[in-house]
Amino acid sequence: MDSHTVAGVGNIYANEALFLAGIHPARAAGRIGLARYQRLATCVQQVLEESLAQGGTTLRDFVNGDGQPGYFSLYLRVYGKGGQACPLCKTSLKEVRQGQRGTVYCPRCQR
Ligand SMILES: [Zn+2]
Repeated sequence: MDSHTVAGVGNIYANEALFLAGIHPARAAGRIGLARYQRLATCVQQVLEESLAQGGTTLRDFVNGDGQPGYFSLYLRVYGKGGQACPLCKTSLKEVRQGQRGTVYCPRCQR
């Protein structure tokens, strides 16, 4: 997953949306079929709507000065939860570093 894959969406939200869509973060964008793209777009919208509903403020405010998510992290499914159980299948979530960014995903749910 690079920043072009999910244009305009912060890393946290990209992690969350890819999880919801069941798409592996390392999957090349060109190898995602149209149906999955459409599902991903729906999931991005869902994540953004959830974050706004739960925080009622701008996306930027969910990240504190250390670059970590603030209280909104209570609602996150995978971001920042590497090594913890997947909320869907209980498999241990994997965390990989991609440049400066941490990416967390479920190796079972996301393909
Ligand atoms: Zn899973």
